[in-house]
Amino acid sequence: MEIYRIEAFQDNYIFVLHDADRHEAAVVDPGDAGPVLRQLEHLGATLTAIFNTHHHSDHVGGNRQLLDQFPAAQVYGGVEDRGRIPGQTHWLEDGDRVSFGDRPALVIFVPGHTRAHIAYYFAPVSSDGWGELFCGDTLFAGGCGRLFEGTPQQMLTSLTKLRQLPDTTRVWCAHEYTLNNLRFAITVDSGNPTLRARLEQVQADRAHHRPTVPADLGLEKQTNPFLRWDVAALQQAVDSTAAVQTFARLRGKKDLF
Ligand SMILES: [Zn+2]
Repeated sequence: MEIYRIEAFQDNYIFVLHDADRHEAAVVDPGDAGPVLRQLEHLGATLTAIFNTHHHSDHVGGNRQLLDQFPAAQVYGGVEDRGRIPGQTHWLEDGDRVSFGDRPALVIFVPGHTRAHIAYYFAPVSSDGWGELFCGDTLFAGGCGRLFEGTPQQMLTSLTKLRQLPDTTRVWCAHEYTLNNLRFAITVDSGNPTLRARLEQVQADRAHHRPTVPADLGLEKQTNPFLRWDVAALQQAVDSTAAVQTFARLRGKKDLF
């Protein structure tokens, strides 16, 4: 399975999964159909699946136009998103399995950004391989999504699930927010040398318009404040030792950053 990262709108990423042997493709969160159709034409692939993480228009806005071209494509989304995802054909719950080509994926229910948000995790195919996590607007490189429909407790539980995945997981998040996220992170975790080095790397990457997605989950665990609510430095930064309160205060600070 090859993964193509497509830029859309201001700072969105859409991901096209390609099974070259079967001449089939799937797409994750097609907010816009145009660039996806161009990629499919370039690959000479038939679209068989749309994997939506949540209902926001910059993630589902291209569903209808893609279905016009590929009416047999299946449309996956969370069960709680019933009625909110155009063309939805499969209503998924935590622990469900889906597949693309010969790759199975685990569905992880991750409410917080919205009440219905799900993530898709493709486990590695070999013991030394990488897993692929499509997490929409839940976990970002260096940050996490805003809480529009969920509570800090829900988001903390969701991020705990993602934090339990192996370090060797690529994080395919849906926005290029990394530089701003890390600029915030350094204000609450200034003594973290790994974070400082990452910020410098990302500053250089963005100065040259290089994408910072996918991110590496092992590095996220060391540098993303929203995966580090139980680390003393972060707790001190927001004057709390309780997990939910620490997380909520970090999220609140980021909202104002
Ligand atoms: Zn969203």
